[in-house]
Amino acid sequence: MTKQSDKTNKSGPDMIYRSFLDRHIFALPKCTKCNQFHFFPRVVCPYCGEFELEWLAISGKGEVYSTTTIYRKPERGGDYNVCLITLDEGPRMMSRIEDIDAKLVNIGDKVTARIINDDDEPFVVFTPSKEAS
Ligand SMILES: [Zn+2]
Repeated sequence: MTKQSDKTNKSGPDMIYRSFLDRHIFALPKCTKCNQFHFFPRVVCPYCGEFELEWLAISGKGEVYSTTTIYRKPERGGDYNVCLITLDEGPRMMSRIEDIDAKLVNIGDKVTARIINDDDEPFVVFTPSKEAS
């Protein structure tokens, strides 16, 4: 009897999410029945239980819902923040805001997603949105 390789389990929602990030696309599953996006990606819609989900690239725009400053010594990278972001598409996700002093992040700030590599893992962070001119 041959044993199946671990690599067969590559179609889970977190793997799909990851494979989009690897291509620098921020995509989330959208339900084909109730039309809602959700995060973290699941196999079924958490709102209505529908299995037919469609992956779509999202705007990456959102708003700070809550923010906490984590104090850290400068030699260890300095302060950073942990935020909950409400995406324009609806879902809320935990992340951090970069390019701004952690203490200056306010609830309601408009932010834009950026995909970075943290220890070779693609990861979504946010930066303050520039006012459109
Ligand atoms: Zn649904």
